[in-house]
Amino acid sequence: MYGLFLKNPSDLELREFASIPTLQDDEVKLRLIYGGICGSDVNVYKGKIEHASYPVSPGHELVGEIVQTGANVKENIGQRVVIQPNSFCGECNYCKSGQTNICPEKKSLGVNVNGGFVQEFVISSKYVLPVPEELANEKAVLIEPFAVIVHAFKKVSITQGTTVAIIGCGAEGMLAVALANHLGANITAVDINQEKLNKVQSHYNGIKTCLPEDVEAGKFDVVIEAAGAKQSFEQGVDILKPGGAMVVVGMAPKAELPVTRMVRKELTLYGSIIYNFPDDFLISIEYLQEEDFNVQPIISEILPLNEYKKAYEYAASGQYGKIILNFQEA
Ligand SMILES: [Zn+2]
Ligand SMILES: [Zn+2]
Repeated sequence: MYGLFLKNPSDLELREFASIPTLQDDEVKLRLIYGGICGSDVNVYKGKIEHASYPVSPGHELVGEIVQTGANVKENIGQRVVIQPNSFCGECNYCKSGQTNICPEKKSLGVNVNGGFVQEFVISSKYVLPVPEELANEKAVLIEPFAVIVHAFKKVSITQGTTVAIIGCGAEGMLAVALANHLGANITAVDINQEKLNKVQSHYNGIKTCLPEDVEAGKFDVVIEAAGAKQSFEQGVDILKPGGAMVVVGMAPKAELPVTRMVRKELTLYGSIIYNFPDDFLISIEYLQEEDFNVQPIISEILPLNEYKKAYEYAASGQYGKIILNFQEA
């Protein structure tokens, strides 16, 4: 079977891997269907993540079908599943309270432990979740990246009429637009790329879009920062109303904060990292199952595994939405 292998930053190749014949009692073997390329995969590829280790098999946004099970696995062969790609200990106080995302033992597939852009992937069954039969693969592959947004939205209250600015219209930003729109928020989508703004305009009704320089300050109840740039973070703080809150999903390495102004306006900042499992995955699946929940514009391209170079190039260019690898058409 074939899979991707990242020897060093920028040194990505398609290799043949030996199939793993015997599984541990708790493990399942998946035949992969789709794998989404995440911003973190691009950053590992570019050598921009400090805690990444090489060589590594990249990839963590995975949908597959169970083809083999260990002795103690309750899922059946043939079941389609999505995986939760961040391991946790299950025993610390964070894990016990459901906060698996901040477990100190957390490891991330495709970053500091081998990931799953391989045709056959073996993982503990504690990290798989069944995909409902009626959910198409094109939506199932969004369960994991969308769970990030589900988690972020839990930090604040977004309902009918809440004024929300979403800064950054990449895949995560677009998923935030989709959810805020679904919840009836009054949305302004912000990006430096006019084409991405046009895409938002053409797929969602009643959303204001603008370039960063055109956003009015002091207007928003909630800001979702999904661009991960210093300027976006700083602008996010500027454009909040008094009493407003910003949820930061993007990862700008550093930014400056106008502390006095923040204190005087009683602003709140939330960091939001990945999701809690399985709760946020279950909510993600629920939304994705709703017919009028519009995620149609999120995926830009689905490419066969052997076109991985093109797929990474697209993903790294920042000009596209989500790029998906198809492992069944290699
Ligand atoms: Zn991801
Ligand atoms: Zn833990």
